[in-house]
Amino acid sequence: MNQKSAFHDSLYNSYALFQEKTLSNRRFKHTSVQTLIGKRIGNPAYEIKKVGESFEGRPIHYLKTGTGPRKILLWTQMHGDEATATMACFDILNFLETENDEFDEIRKLILSETTLYFVPMLNPDGAERFQRRNAQNIDINRDALQLQAPESRILKELQQSLQPEFGFNLHDKNPRYSVGNTSKLATISFLATAYDQEKNVNTVRKKAIQVISGMNRMLQNYIPDAVGRWNEDHEPRAFGDNIQKWGTTLILIESGGYVGDPEKQYIRKLNFMSILTALDSIADNSYAQEGQEDYYKLPENSRYIFDFLIRNAMVNEEGKTYQTDLGIDRTEVNYDNATKFFYRSKIEDYGDLSIYFGSEEFDATSYTLEKGKTLSVSYSEISQLDKFDPWELLKEGYTYIKTDLTSEGIFFTNLPLHILMDKAAPTSAPTFEDIPTFILTKNRAVKFAVVNGFLYDLSGEAPAFNNGVIE
Ligand SMILES: [Zn+2]
Repeated sequence: MNQKSAFHDSLYNSYALFQEKTLSNRRFKHTSVQTLIGKRIGNPAYEIKKVGESFEGRPIHYLKTGTGPRKILLWTQMHGDEATATMACFDILNFLETENDEFDEIRKLILSETTLYFVPMLNPDGAERFQRRNAQNIDINRDALQLQAPESRILKELQQSLQPEFGFNLHDKNPRYSVGNTSKLATISFLATAYDQEKNVNTVRKKAIQVISGMNRMLQNYIPDAVGRWNEDHEPRAFGDNIQKWGTTLILIESGGYVGDPEKQYIRKLNFMSILTALDSIADNSYAQEGQEDYYKLPENSRYIFDFLIRNAMVNEEGKTYQTDLGIDRTEVNYDNATKFFYRSKIEDYGDLSIYFGSEEFDATSYTLEKGKTLSVSYSEISQLDKFDPWELLKEGYTYIKTDLTSEGIFFTNLPLHILMDKAAPTSAPTFEDIPTFILTKNRAVKFAVVNGFLYDLSGEAPAFNNGVIE
């Protein structure tokens, strides 16, 4: 095992050499993938084959590399907004193409013992919109039986014709899942997908459990206690479950959340590490030494983490005072043809949230949560809002600006303010399911402002990055 961890450490430290630099955030499109495939055409290391088209006619390819007897099929982004593993797969291709470094032996082993079929971005129409479903609004991962989506038929046809020994089903999941009921985000989660309701383990599924055990041991060195196990329940319509049933050892890798990594570039590196660890253990057959205990010891994913948790705030309402926690989530909303996003936050839960955690937390003990003041203005253009010093407004307790403008489809602002266009000024502090915009006071003095779920400490300097909202 020592030899392996030395390999993992040097791989971890050398990652930047292999990182595909043209992919640097999650909202890249099919054209970026086509460029990366196109530049490999003519490279003798690859057979590149068009395996079909998406519903809207975007070509889908596999890149085949390696000459070994063990066939491995890896597909990414079956859900259009789950791009982490697509980036990692191109990092892996860069790694496999490199020569004359300390990894030559490992590379040679992988490429001589396995034949790899990479299918990057199985759902390009979904990626275009940065949405889970395809252009028909079908969830490809619930279409393994009915095969009504062309992307589903491509995947099934690949599995049936290649009969790969191993399959890697590469996804992202909601980044707020926790490892069990802990405060740790489940940064990577694994599943040896169940092929029946009883969750039996046959020889096909057992191999998935063994490969996962090795990946988990590697990851624990870099993200201790941040690896989870996805729910084992059998989903009869899903691809993972059926591919396991059809005789390919199926390994699910889910990229979750990591604090401070909204574009998942560190999680991408962990994908690179995980998949190469798996390929290495398959190539030298070392996975077969693994038991099953470590897999079953992995805590199941749970939902115990909010993006931002405010504890113990006092609220005054109609002359009555009570204490509450606020569980706030910041949801990404696409704009500019889903090439960018802004955050729109919501109070997801309210009341006693003492069993939960926040990726960011604030203890509001001895602070009172109050409605911010509204400044009414009559402007003909939104750009006139720049007249104000927003920081001074917040310090005076203003969180809302009411304008006569209509939103015209723009729902965010870089000002750290809550702009009301289509909506009337609020008459009370926000509560369950509202957008979290309010002030926190102590002895009647405004100390903090929360606008659209982002906290501003008004005793400090104005921050550079502001996530205002328009509604
Ligand atoms: Zn998915």
